[in-house]
Amino acid sequence: MILFKLKCHAGHEFEGWFRDSAAFSRQNARDQVACPECGSSDIDKAPMAPRPLRTTAATQTERPPSPEEVRRALQLLRRQVETHCENVGSRFATEARAIHNGTATARGIYGDATSAESRALADDGIEFQTIPWPAPSDA
Ligand SMILES: [Zn+2]
Repeated sequence: MILFKLKCHAGHEFEGWFRDSAAFSRQNARDQVACPECGSSDIDKAPMAPRPLRTTAATQTERPPSPEEVRRALQLLRRQVETHCENVGSRFATEARAIHNGTATARGIYGDATSAESRALADDGIEFQTIPWPAPSDA
């Protein structure tokens, strides 16, 4: 879809969505495009670069997510982690290190680590992610 800025012969400007430039030309040739102010079907495209629909969509997705959206995303992430990874609880740092060293089976794990443990893992180049765990859904 393309948004065209249109202008009738009386100088009224308005906007219209069309599938493409050809669709506008076709509809305009059949007098299917009319000015909303005076009803004139003597319409021309006003000088303006056509604005593709995706520009509008991109603008909408660029707004920062609301706290509710962030919470939903984190809950989804939590469900995925809980489904696919093993909960090793407070042994997380030990297990992560064992997997890193090859002394434990490589697998996805999750659990709790103290900030000191997290720092030690990071210092040793062991990959892990800290996820702000949302409270279980209260919805
Ligand atoms: Zn008009």
